[in-house]
Amino acid sequence: MFPKLSWKLTFFMVLVSGLTITFAGLLTDRALDRQFADFLETSQLERNQQMLETIKEIYDGSQDRITIERQLELLGQATAAQIIVGERRMGGHMGGHMMNRGPAMMRRQTTDNLILPDGSTALVEIIPSQSPEHALQEAEFRRAVNQSILLAALFSLGAALVLSSFFSWGLTKPLDNLVTMVRKVGAGDLAQRTEVRGQDEFKFLGQEFNQMAANLERMEQMRIKLTNDLAHEFRTPLATVQAYLEGMSDGVIDPTQENFNLVLEETQRLEGLLEGLQELAKLEQPMPKKERVDLGNTLTSLVSPLKILAAEKDISIGLALQEGLVTIGDGDMLVTAFRNLVENAIKYTLPGGRVSINLRAEQDEIVVEISDTGIGIEAQDLPFIFERFYRTDLSRSRQTGGTGIGLTVTAGIIKGHGGTITVVSEPHKGSTFSVRLPKA
Ligand code: ADP
Repeated sequence: MFPKLSWKLTFFMVLVSGLTITFAGLLTDRALDRQFADFLETSQLERNQQMLETIKEIYDGSQDRITIERQLELLGQATAAQIIVGERRMGGHMGGHMMNRGPAMMRRQTTDNLILPDGSTALVEIIPSQSPEHALQEAEFRRAVNQSILLAALFSLGAALVLSSFFSWGLTKPLDNLVTMVRKVGAGDLAQRTEVRGQDEFKFLGQEFNQMAANLERMEQMRIKLTNDLAHEFRTPLATVQAYLEGMSDGVIDPTQENFNLVLEETQRLEGLLEGLQELAKLEQPMPKKERVDLGNTLTSLVSPLKILAAEKDISIGLALQEGLVTIGDGDMLVTAFRNLVENAIKYTLPGGRVSINLRAEQDEIVVEISDTGIGIEAQDLPFIFERFYRTDLSRSRQTGGTGIGLTVTAGIIKGHGGTITVVSEPHKGSTFSVRLPKA
């Protein structure tokens, strides 16, 4: 099996969400730290300010040093802080007494000037201590926050895993289907198609592959049909030749001129088939030449030799050609296309009949009409006469020796020149083939 794209996608999506959560957690932790410290500092500053006010009041309200010391000591105990009041000395150091009794863990100091009643200035230092209760609260708060972050991380990782699995499965499922289909088509199962859904690129990719498989299937069917048709077309003349030669060799059939001619006709028919097939093969290649083709001249020169053939059958050929009508393309191929039509017109017209060739311009198009007063084509045959090897019953019964390739070649050439070919016919009255080509 091939490495699963969905697994890779899931892995990367989970990895990305894991990293995001980790970074978010770290940043939250840092931000909380800062916020917490700021909060502690602000509240401590406020408390210190209040204490300073109280200390001032103590000093203002009493002259007795012992009373002051006791009161300060009580204040220190009540606020869990060390309070040091000392006279300012040179060098900024303080002398004086600690008047506190607070727990040992000191975190910060605040100093401010205090004007003593005797007019001297003293420095007050308040050393707050962190109460165990406080520390416990902080630790608890942190634990709660960390727990929340961890929970959020687990939840988001789980969600990322589930969502990305669904997403990548949905994304790679059509791709898997496509791979399976392409494999089967590659192995020769040309009827395989993939399911086409949604509106994304996979839909268009699926459509393109389905189209490709459909084309391959059509071409394969055409190939099989061509092989069958060829076998069918070659079988009859070959069987006839074989039967006649065996018959003559065994002495069952007389080697008369007539019988030899019959064998010769069949071999000519085989040759005609091969030539037709070569013409068909030429159509598969892109049009080699792009020259200016004067259709009046083309029709005049191709009809000249056919006039003898027509005269032999007592068929008259009438030409009505507008001059100077030029199309762009391959002159030789256009000669082949029109010769097939004129030959058919002569071939399928009874003695005494008439074939007319008309060339004229209609707006941007050149119209060539080849009409005959021949055997015509039944309505049920009309849709098929341009198909390879198709021959109508009317023409078969006349033993015309056709191969059913000529019209396929003609239609292919006209189409290759950007034109169209249509036919109007009435059985036993005649047919008109109309070719329309772009004017140069
Ligand atoms: P073929 O070699 O048999 O003439 P074509 O491909 O040229 O092959 O023509 C296919 C069939 O169309 C012919 O066999 C014939 O049945 C019919 N057809 C073509 N042209 C005419 C026509 N002018 N009049 C009557 N039938 C025609």
